[in-house]
Amino acid sequence: MQDRLGRTIDYLRLSVTDLCNFRCRYCMPENGVPKLPHSAILSVEEIAEIGQAAAACGIRKIRLTGGEPLVRRGIVEICRRLSRIEGLRELCMTTNASLLPELAAPLREAGVGRLNISLDTLSPEKFARITRRGSLDDVWRGIRAAEDAGFSELKLDTVLIGGFNDAEIPALVRLTQEHPWEVRFIELMPMGECAGWEKSCFLSADAVLRACPELRPIAPSGVARRFRLPGASGTVGLISPMSHNFCSECRRIRVTADGKLKGCLHSPEEIPLRGLHGAELESAIRRGILQKPESHRLNFCGSGTPRDMNEIGG
Ligand code: SAM
Ligand code: SF4
Repeated sequence: MQDRLGRTIDYLRLSVTDLCNFRCRYCMPENGVPKLPHSAILSVEEIAEIGQAAAACGIRKIRLTGGEPLVRRGIVEICRRLSRIEGLRELCMTTNASLLPELAAPLREAGVGRLNISLDTLSPEKFARITRRGSLDDVWRGIRAAEDAGFSELKLDTVLIGGFNDAEIPALVRLTQEHPWEVRFIELMPMGECAGWEKSCFLSADAVLRACPELRPIAPSGVARRFRLPGASGTVGLISPMSHNFCSECRRIRVTADGKLKGCLHSPEEIPLRGLHGAELESAIRRGILQKPESHRLNFCGSGTPRDMNEIGG
């Protein structure tokens, strides 16, 4: 379905939990978030119903996110239910990979087609520092488990942080020489935990092109500008919400773990979906699509949403 500006909206990012086993410094407070009662979070049944109604409104791709989607109880069942929805072409997930050693094969069997894995650094010590409690070894084990389970087109997502991982850009880009992965650099967005960080932490994704001038442009994909090293198996993606506003190309809507539809990651407007069924639910989703804002109001003074990233799903 098209929104009022003629953009085709066919991509839903669905958060299945706001909890996480990591505490990335730019995303979550050190002590985590208060655990909401079970009843405050969408049930497996409600998620399946929202997926079904979204597909009826023209959604063709659902990405599960969080928080960390793999800490959500019933995640494999959620994937199984969503992957069977008629009209849906793709079910994918963004994960920190730490639980993939146990879950990669069941997710594949439940119909997940592709995985994006967050990886901000190749240094075990820096990884422990940025995630506050994650282990880089677990992530590499998760990546191997994903490949063994048949997830061949992995995307590795790196949030660019000035003074933290900019010196690692060439090493991260070199991963694509041997692996058929897309390594994607995402500009840090000043929301939630990192809203007040020094300006020097916020780098333009063009820093990747300066660090690796041998990268050659290839066709873009969605909101990502894409590049390849000569002869490389994989590709490099740049996602630049801050420096290159891509709102006119945006095809997404979002649903939060507590069942609110958002037309944009950064907008304060939310449409509650809980308690709605059938035609009523579809009509609320259509309303959300029609009300999708023209552009985000994100700038270095902050985002327009009072929610943190773990609540909305990045
Ligand atoms: N836990 C999963 C993960 O980390 O992949 C999924 C949820 S996480 C919120 C989704 C993505 O949002 C991650 O790649 C994360 O690095 C990114 N993210 C979180 N906070 C961000 C921020 N302030 N700016 C840019 N990206 C952010
Ligand atoms: Fe957890 Fe992902 Fe946020 Fe890191 S970015 S704290 S892994 S939800």
